[in-house]
Amino acid sequence: EREDLPEVATPEALRPLLPRRPLTAHKGSVGRVGVLGGYRGDGLRYAGAPVLAALGAYRMGAGLVHLAVPEGTPLEPLEAVFHPLPAPALPPMRVEALAVGMGGGPWGVLWAMRALEAGLPTVLDADALHLEVVAAYRRAGAKAVLTPHAGEAGRLLGRSPEEVAKDPLEAARTLARETGLTVVLKGNPTVVAEGERLSLNPTGNPALATGGTGDVLSGAIATLLAAGLPPFEAARLGVYLHGLAGDLLAEEKGVGLLAKEVAEALPRAREALL
Ligand code: AMP
Ligand code: MG
Repeated sequence: EREDLPEVATPEALRPLLPRRPLTAHKGSVGRVGVLGGYRGDGLRYAGAPVLAALGAYRMGAGLVHLAVPEGTPLEPLEAVFHPLPAPALPPMRVEALAVGMGGGPWGVLWAMRALEAGLPTVLDADALHLEVVAAYRRAGAKAVLTPHAGEAGRLLGRSPEEVAKDPLEAARTLARETGLTVVLKGNPTVVAEGERLSLNPTGNPALATGGTGDVLSGAIATLLAAGLPPFEAARLGVYLHGLAGDLLAEEKGVGLLAKEVAEALPRAREALL
């Protein structure tokens, strides 16, 4: 047996990690999440990404979600506390975890640096996934989960997306070792790595290969961090439930899922794991 053989996440191992809702729960006690994302550059791009992350957070059970976006982003604030910002600052909010960079454009890096000062467990995704960010988090010994796809992992490793996809286990392990952070390398399979630990996710399917599903995942993992799970556990459980939500939907509808439907299926995935 190779000592570096990865474990495959099992329902038995993950079930005990699921945060339970005590009868006395209130929205301030079950995990509050701050989402920092969206980008208004020349034209409006990726306005939906932070909304999908907020949906992912609520559907994973967050008590309250704060949603910070560039001023002028036309959003339905939903149930979230809405913070339209003139600059990439951290709005005043009481939260236990952050998700940063979903459609953040050049604000992604700036927001990630401000988030580091807050000292909260943080999911770094998409436009927050740049070398200077990862280096700063590493130096600070921060609690952070990186959620790159093969292209974003390649950008951090100095490799092509194809090279990353060829050996995702090795790429995830190397990125985790080099950064000292928790890595979720998304794709098929999704690999979670931290230090010498490595976990393969058994759920998910190609119907998830559609815009916005990664943003839902970031919000979902941030909620589990806010509920107090350590980064490796939050990452493994979030990835498992997100993939299971995609599997439940693909069984019903086949290909043609919407990211918001994946968020909406998270409570069912949670029930199926219980
Ligand atoms: P992103 O690339 O950030 O939009 O994230 C896409 C999400 O869909 C990630 O959670 C991926 O793991 C998932 N996904 C994409 N393609 C596949 C696939 N072929 N099989 C399983 N999951 C996938
Ligand atoms: Mg993405």
